[in-house]
Amino acid sequence: MANTYPEIFTPLDLGFTRLENRILMGSMHTGLEDRPDQYDRLAGYFAERSKGGGPGLMVTGGISPNAEGRLDAESGMLTSAQETLPHRRVTDAVHESGGKICMQILHSGRYGSHQQIVSASALQAPISRVVPTALSTEGIEKQISDFVRCAELARLAGYDGVEIMGSEGYFINQFLCERTNHRTDQWGGCYENRVRMAREIVTRTRTAVGEDFIIIYRISIIDLVENGSDWEEVVSLAATMASNGATILNCGIGWHESRIPTISSAVPAGVFRGAVARLRQSVTVPIVATNRINVPDLAEMLLSQGVCDMVSMARPLLADPHWVQKARTGRADEINACIACNQACLDQIFSGKLATCMVNPRAVNETIINYYPATVRKRISVVGAGPAGLAAATVSAQRGHAVTLFESSAEIGGQFTLAREVPGKQEYQRTIDYYATMIAKLGVELKLKSPLSADQTDWHSMVQNFDEIIISTGVRPSQPAIPGIEKALVKNYVEVLSGRAAVGKKIVIIGAGGIGFDVATYVFGPGLQEPEKWLAYWGIHSNFETRGALVPAVMPIPDTRVVLMQRSEGQLGRTLGKTTGWSHRLHLKKHGLEMLGGVTYQQILDNGLWIEVHGERKFIEADTIVICAGQQEENSLYTHICENVPALKAHIVGGALQAAELDAQRAIAQGAALAAQL
Ligand code: NAP
Ligand code: SF4
Repeated sequence: MANTYPEIFTPLDLGFTRLENRILMGSMHTGLEDRPDQYDRLAGYFAERSKGGGPGLMVTGGISPNAEGRLDAESGMLTSAQETLPHRRVTDAVHESGGKICMQILHSGRYGSHQQIVSASALQAPISRVVPTALSTEGIEKQISDFVRCAELARLAGYDGVEIMGSEGYFINQFLCERTNHRTDQWGGCYENRVRMAREIVTRTRTAVGEDFIIIYRISIIDLVENGSDWEEVVSLAATMASNGATILNCGIGWHESRIPTISSAVPAGVFRGAVARLRQSVTVPIVATNRINVPDLAEMLLSQGVCDMVSMARPLLADPHWVQKARTGRADEINACIACNQACLDQIFSGKLATCMVNPRAVNETIINYYPATVRKRISVVGAGPAGLAAATVSAQRGHAVTLFESSAEIGGQFTLAREVPGKQEYQRTIDYYATMIAKLGVELKLKSPLSADQTDWHSMVQNFDEIIISTGVRPSQPAIPGIEKALVKNYVEVLSGRAAVGKKIVIIGAGGIGFDVATYVFGPGLQEPEKWLAYWGIHSNFETRGALVPAVMPIPDTRVVLMQRSEGQLGRTLGKTTGWSHRLHLKKHGLEMLGGVTYQQILDNGLWIEVHGERKFIEADTIVICAGQQEENSLYTHICENVPALKAHIVGGALQAAELDAQRAIAQGAALAAQL
């Protein structure tokens, strides 16, 4: 078979070892790293990805070199030979399945959330509640020794190398930049002093681990914070790391405290490639590109254009463990692409839960959830081709059942066909495409424009030949009882996002949940996908040359007034994703979005809406009012079957089962879990 991706599948010779392809599975914290009793599960997670020719190299989630460097009091550490034992299970599993794996050494510095945190200076991070202790000279020596010991222990545990985390604003970054390093001794002040920490860690680690052990240095090439590094310093740091023992430089983008999005779906794919390509001109060690690269075509293009030597992907390999295998065997269309929602991975990690993936419920659950071949082949009908129904249909078919999928509209996707219309959420189409491919390949009989409802006379004949029926008929928008709600200026979010209803220039949005924010984003017009315009909009220098790569941001000139409202008090958008909500809010504020909480809706007129806020009556002029007030279950078919056709075994999943706080993660997980049992 012709190799569609010759660059991706060109091995990379590191001298003492060879990587079979150019894909690096980037570090992604799953939460299992912090639970030594769960390392069999962690081993299963990595083995699933490396079996059958996976990524050329994988990197674990961050492991701290000492107690001071932990992100929180429960974070995983590697400080003794005893602690290497669980890691052995991971490295053995990866090597048995033919892969290679490095362990990331992550020292949080001032980003930690416990009382022992240390940094260059006693400066509290804007995203942390704790002030770090400024290290003494002895304390600095201890941190370096702990890094080195941790790398030696990683070698003892069987890893092929380590990744030293020097980016994203963590400990080493905090020494590198004047923003966080106010020291006046040999570890602060001039750049030569500020770079000493990074250089000593890499140099001493190389001496300790020997020449035949991979050291990846994760270098922050664009800090995106004030008083960050400038380009000259980045190039100088890269050269220093390469000449002092780093085997590979992996490019990190943006400190965690930066107020510029770097990984959300609104970030154009490959937008930071210019910086990576420039750095590659300056050093001789392999350079790895990261951030918003999720499909083989883009990875191949970056490699073929000489932007980088390897491409790092973390979330895309969570979403599809067999990404590499599919790309190699001409099945790229079967890749279940990461859509950069962060919902089930990073948002869950920041809520103290284990990571998984919205589009792949098996992620991090490889030893728990399995789709075994069915022992009896059943005839299954699935009603509704939204996320829950699609997951149920494809997993059922994958297990060997004969599946027919009924969908009332002319296309599959359900709520995802609305989400993809929101600027910055175009990637949702990839999930629809994935399911369309799998439906065809798995032989699911798809019946579009085939509504099944309880009041239909012939539906019995349509389903009587099935053994079981899965109802995934989704939700319908709620219609709150506000006087005047029937007026022509009132639309619901489905009408607006589907393009069936046009909006004016004076818009009120009732309901400030995820969909209210999505509609606000939609009505402000198409997002910026051209890289230059996107960089200018967020205040990033076009050549990344300035300090922190920052310049004054270009402000939009909105011609639409949008007021977003909710009845409850407090900040609007509290339910938005932990890791992406802030950038949605910031984007909308830049467009002049007005937000009102504590609202009582009194009456809708033809030209606006009377409300009461904190005892004050107000009239808000509007030519369009969009209702985003939640949903109700569309479950009448299920109820009808249960009451009238008891012989047909019926199941219900997704929004049809429970509309409140529905999200696609729950819908897909429910659909897949049900199908796994049939
Ligand atoms: P939601 O998050 O439950 O929000 C519903 C909104 O409607 C709330 O602001 C609520 O606020 C308001 N509301 C509820 N009943 C009302 C009534 N009777 N009259 C007036 N206002 C009412 O639901 P959603 O926005 O429809 O989203 C559905 C699901 O999709 C949610 O689980 C959401 O998390 C998810 N989603 C997430 C994102 C994301 O970016 N993470 C995007 C889209 C959807 P008050 O009760 O205070 O008025
Ligand atoms: Fe990607 Fe979303 Fe899955 Fe995270 S949860 S890996 S962002 S698709």
